[in-house]
Amino acid sequence: MDTGGNSLPSGADGLKRKVCYFYDPEVGNYYYGQGHPMKPHRMRMTHALLAHYGLLQHMHVLKPNPARDKDLCRFHADDYVSFLRRVTPETQQDQLRQLKRFNVGEDCPVFDGLYSFCQTYAGGSIGGAVKLNHGHCDIAVNWAGGLHHAKKCEASGFCYVNDIVLAILELLKTHERVLYVDIDIHHGDGVEEAFYITDRVMTVSFHKFGDYFPGTGDIRDIGFGKGKYYALNVPLDDGIDDESYQSLFKPIISKVMEVFRPGAVVLQCGADSLSGDRLGCFNLSVKGHAECVRFMRSFNVPLLLVGGGGYTIRNVARCWCYETGVALGIEVDDKMPQHEYIEYFGPEYTLHVAPSNMENKNSRELLEHIRVKLLDNLSKLQHAPSVQFQERPPDTQFLEADEDEDNKDERNHPDSDVNVDCERKSTPRRVKMEFVESEPNHKNHEAVDQVAREVESTLIDSTCSKDSIAAAEAAGLPYVKAEESPENVDVEAGPSGMDQQ
Ligand SMILES: [Zn+2]
Repeated sequence: MDTGGNSLPSGADGLKRKVCYFYDPEVGNYYYGQGHPMKPHRMRMTHALLAHYGLLQHMHVLKPNPARDKDLCRFHADDYVSFLRRVTPETQQDQLRQLKRFNVGEDCPVFDGLYSFCQTYAGGSIGGAVKLNHGHCDIAVNWAGGLHHAKKCEASGFCYVNDIVLAILELLKTHERVLYVDIDIHHGDGVEEAFYITDRVMTVSFHKFGDYFPGTGDIRDIGFGKGKYYALNVPLDDGIDDESYQSLFKPIISKVMEVFRPGAVVLQCGADSLSGDRLGCFNLSVKGHAECVRFMRSFNVPLLLVGGGGYTIRNVARCWCYETGVALGIEVDDKMPQHEYIEYFGPEYTLHVAPSNMENKNSRELLEHIRVKLLDNLSKLQHAPSVQFQERPPDTQFLEADEDEDNKDERNHPDSDVNVDCERKSTPRRVKMEFVESEPNHKNHEAVDQVAREVESTLIDSTCSKDSIAAAEAAGLPYVKAEESPENVDVEAGPSGMDQQ
C-alpha cells in the first residue's frame, strides 16, 4: 500500500484544504508556575485571534479527547506515566527520588492538573493523526502539541509526554513513511531519538546549535542501522533571517520529499525561532516562519501542524494565527481585530512586526557548506524504502466533541503572562566535542528498541497468526500483539485535576 501522498479528499483547486483544528478551552488555564516562561495561555490567545479573524468558521473545530494511559504508554514507560498521573504539588516532596529519576521539578515542574494537561495536548495530536488517517481532513492543527523534548521515561525542556512521537506512531498505522520536520529553535531531540533506527520515519530538525539546549543535533548525527541517513540535522547560528533560513529549508525539504516520499508529514512549528523570542536568538519574521508551513502544504501530503516552544507569547499567538490562515489558504489582515487580549499587541496592534537588526552569524559560506553536506547525505537515499503491510492496525479510538465556538470560558489566568525573568537552563547536557568523530547517538537503547517494536507492530497482523510471528522473527524483532479492536475499548473516566467539571 503506497499512499504516495498525492491523493487527498479535497484541495482539487490547489488552494483550499480541509482543516481540523483541535482546541480545549481549558488548556489556557494550566500554569507552570510563577516566572516559568512556558505559558499555556498562549494557546488561548491564539484561539481568540482565530475567532476574531473569523478563521474558526472555515475549520472543523474539535475538542480533543484526553489521551488515555494506554495511549501514552505506546511510547512512554508505564512507571513514568503512572508517576505523572499521581504526582501533585502537595505530595511531590515525598517523592524526591522519583522526581530526580524522571527529571521532574525544575524546567519541568509539577503543577496542578499536570497529567490532564499532558492528556489534552497529546490527545489533540493523536486525534489529528486519526483524522488524517481517515481522510477526514487534509491538515490537522494542534497548537497545544509539539512537545518534542520528552523522552520515554524522562521529562525534558518543559515537555512531559511526547505527543509528536505518539502522533507519528498513529500515522504509521496507515502510512508507510512519515516525515517529521521541526522548526523550533531547539533541536527536536525526543522525536529524533525515538525514530533513530528506523527508515519509516525521517526526522529533519532546523535548530540553533552550539552551547544551547538540549545540546544535540550535530550535522553528523544521521541515524543508525536501518535508520542511517533518515535523521537530518541543520545546525544554525544566532540571528538567522528569513532569506538565509529559506535558502536551506526549501532545497533540503524539496529533496527530502523527492527521495523519501512520505505518506504524511508532521511539522513542529515552535515559535521560539521568531525574532524577539524571550529564550530564542533567531531573527525570523512571522512570514518567514510561516513560509515553512506554506511550503510544506504545497506538496499536498496529509499534514499535521503542532506547536512547540515560543516564549514571547504575543508573537506566538501572532505566528500560529497567521499559520492557521496559511493552512486554510486565507491571507489574514495585518490590522488586528478588537478582542479580549488586544492590549498584548500594542503599540502596533498588527499581526506582523518587523524583525530586529541583529547580526546574522550564519555566513553564506557556512549555509552553503550545510546545504551541500545535507543534500549529499540525501543523495545516499536513492529509493524510498518500501515495507510490506499486512493488516492495518486499529485506530486509536477518539470520539471528539465538536467544540462550541462561543465557549464561555475565556477567562485569563490571573497570573498568566507575568513577565518575570526566569532563564531557562541553557547548559547543554550532551554537547559533543568539535574534534571528536560523531558517535551514533542511540543513547537510549531501551526507548529506541521499544519504538522500533511499536513501529514494527504496525506492519504485523493484529491476530496472532503464524505468519505474523514469522514476520516478526524474520525482522529480528519480538512479536508485539497489536491493540484490541477499538470497538471493545472502554473509555476511561476523566482524569482527576483542574479540568474536571
Ligand atoms: Zn524550543
